[in-house]
Amino acid sequence: MKENNYNLKKIPSVNLLLEKLSAQFPQIKPIYLKRIILFELDYVREKPQRFQLNKIDKAEFQHKLIERITEQIEILLEGTLKPVINATGVVLHTGLGRAPINPALTQKAAEIGRYTNLEIKLGNGKRGERTDHIASLLRILSGAEDGLAVNNNAAAVMLMLNTIGRRKEIILSRGEMIEIGGSFRLPEVMKISGCKLKEIGTTNKTHIKDYQQAVSKKTSAILICHTSNYEIKGFTHRPELTEIVELAHGSDLPVIFDLGSGSLEESEKFGSNPEPLVSEIVEAGVDLISFSGDKLLGGPQAGIIVGKEKWVQKCAKNHLLRALRLDKFILKMLQETLISYLYGGQVFKRLDSLNALTKNTEELKRRSELFIHTLPEQLQIQMEIVKSTGKVGSGAYPTLELPSWAVKVTPKSMRAERLGKKLRNSARPVFSYIDNEALFIDLRTVNNEEEKDLRKALIEILR
Ligand SMILES: *Cc1c(COP(=O)(O)O)cnc(C)c1O
Repeated sequence: MKENNYNLKKIPSVNLLLEKLSAQFPQIKPIYLKRIILFELDYVREKPQRFQLNKIDKAEFQHKLIERITEQIEILLEGTLKPVINATGVVLHTGLGRAPINPALTQKAAEIGRYTNLEIKLGNGKRGERTDHIASLLRILSGAEDGLAVNNNAAAVMLMLNTIGRRKEIILSRGEMIEIGGSFRLPEVMKISGCKLKEIGTTNKTHIKDYQQAVSKKTSAILICHTSNYEIKGFTHRPELTEIVELAHGSDLPVIFDLGSGSLEESEKFGSNPEPLVSEIVEAGVDLISFSGDKLLGGPQAGIIVGKEKWVQKCAKNHLLRALRLDKFILKMLQETLISYLYGGQVFKRLDSLNALTKNTEELKRRSELFIHTLPEQLQIQMEIVKSTGKVGSGAYPTLELPSWAVKVTPKSMRAERLGKKLRNSARPVFSYIDNEALFIDLRTVNNEEEKDLRKALIEILR
């Protein structure tokens, strides 16, 4: 203990550090610099062993500490959120921000950065609604009567449930009681939306008569949830969607469908495991449908609600919408994403996420080979092209793996883990994946400009 105290005496005073660091960072307001220093000193005192105070003298420690604080300030000034290269092959990678947005589209959003007609109609100068900017697009693309958008699909589900089911019961099959990564658990969402969950059926089987028996005076709606991230196979049953709709409408109840990763475009291009199309769910007579903006839609983070005008307007009038509404940049990106769908099949070229999901496998193989050939031969690695499986990610298509090719990199002078770490910490961070002592680079999710940076990073680390 005594020795510890003795060591703590080596810690320099706040004023001394402030003096040295303000000379280095004159642009930072002194009060903020002081807070940074205090924060770092707490960090030292909390665990002095981290600095091996017993092994170094006062001057040396002071030098080390200033170095550390300088580094921390540089990180702060640079901003920690930055563009990275996704070489994992997982297209909608939640940790890497889900759908990649094409720069041409981001540019459109940047253009409205100053002032924009967000809530004013250009025609008469009167007040408009921000959702006006996407409502017609949503109607045209989904075939629904009306539509609006909020922060994310979790918010969309909350808004629908709170609008329709507050202080009432909502019926849900036990086979659809989902949890999505990032703490979206349907029973909890219901609770905070003020609804009472009426569970029916069993995990594997729910019959139409289960729905029939559950309907009572307290019922406000039937909820259906797309099981995005799992599949129940074997001895299973769920009624046809149209059966449920018919039953609900017979009792004047709306049907709400949380579609998760709704798709607006024919999805056979994605492979053999098609997700339901939003327009099909609309056609089946469902009253309110919600889906994410940044899953298969391929746009910014948002939650979209489409459905019957009566119910969508009820949601639009809920005061909760004020807390869940979209920011102008996101709204613009969403608008541009939706406009891209008007061009039919071309949408697969216009939206980077859809492009990555539908990449030609042979082309990927050729690109991977070329990637290897364009790297200098003397690099301390062994490389080969191997078959791999890209993934959709983000709970869309739970069982679908995209046939893919990857570059398998086996470093000679370090472990694959270490190479992975170095790549992550390069000027333009690169995310790859490690398997069995080798590092894999999947170019499916890497564009041409990123590929150049990726090559540069590899050369820098390995030459
Ligand atoms: C992904 C998903 C959600 C959550 O959507 P976010 O856009 O991530 O908020 C909710 N329900 C289902 C069925 C989903 O797949």
